[in-house]
Amino acid sequence: MKELIVATKNKGKLREIKELLKEFDLNITSLAEYPDAPDIIEDGKEFFENALIKARIIAKYTGKLVLGEDSGIEVEYLNNAPGIFSSRFAGEDANDDDNNAKLIKALDGVPKDKRTARYRCSAALIDGEKIVGVVDGKCEGYITTEPRGQNGFGYDPYFYIEAYGKTFGELDPEIKSKISHRAEALMKVKELIRQAV
Ligand code: IMP
Repeated sequence: MKELIVATKNKGKLREIKELLKEFDLNITSLAEYPDAPDIIEDGKEFFENALIKARIIAKYTGKLVLGEDSGIEVEYLNNAPGIFSSRFAGEDANDDDNNAKLIKALDGVPKDKRTARYRCSAALIDGEKIVGVVDGKCEGYITTEPRGQNGFGYDPYFYIEAYGKTFGELDPEIKSKISHRAEALMKVKELIRQAV
């Protein structure tokens, strides 16, 4: 079975990507299986650049088929911060709780109509040295004032989808896997995988 390495250590992200690509006969691994892989310095200025950086480093190291994924949240009131810095919004070693606390503090007193946000996701597929393609997806929502729900990861308990009247933390993961930024990008990745395998 052909291997697809997802160049991530993020368990929530990996879980969703595995689910989104389950129709393929692929052995989907991650950096957990490659503890000696080189460190990835995410110094791109855009999501797609960081997705390419992740895929390129791990494809060069392994010579295999690699998916690099970079994602994050843009909050309009904060001039689209944290954006590419979403995982380290509250500092290099910040966890999801730290990042959420910083976000909610930054939006203290801001009314609902000014709490618009979007998740974005870029994904790059590289086979050895060949770039198969780079794709992206987005998902629009609002930042709530209180956390709601236990599903998902990261900012999900605060990311409210108007059409469902629920946060990603409350929504059934099956629905998130149809409407999320990652779902949109990974739909396009499926086409790239068909070209590559
Ligand atoms: P990356 O691993 O550098 O791409 O950082 C991604 C970060 O963006 C995560 O650590 C979360 O903070 C945030 N993020 C991206 N996608 C999601 C999602 O689907 N739900 C919640 N947070 C997300």
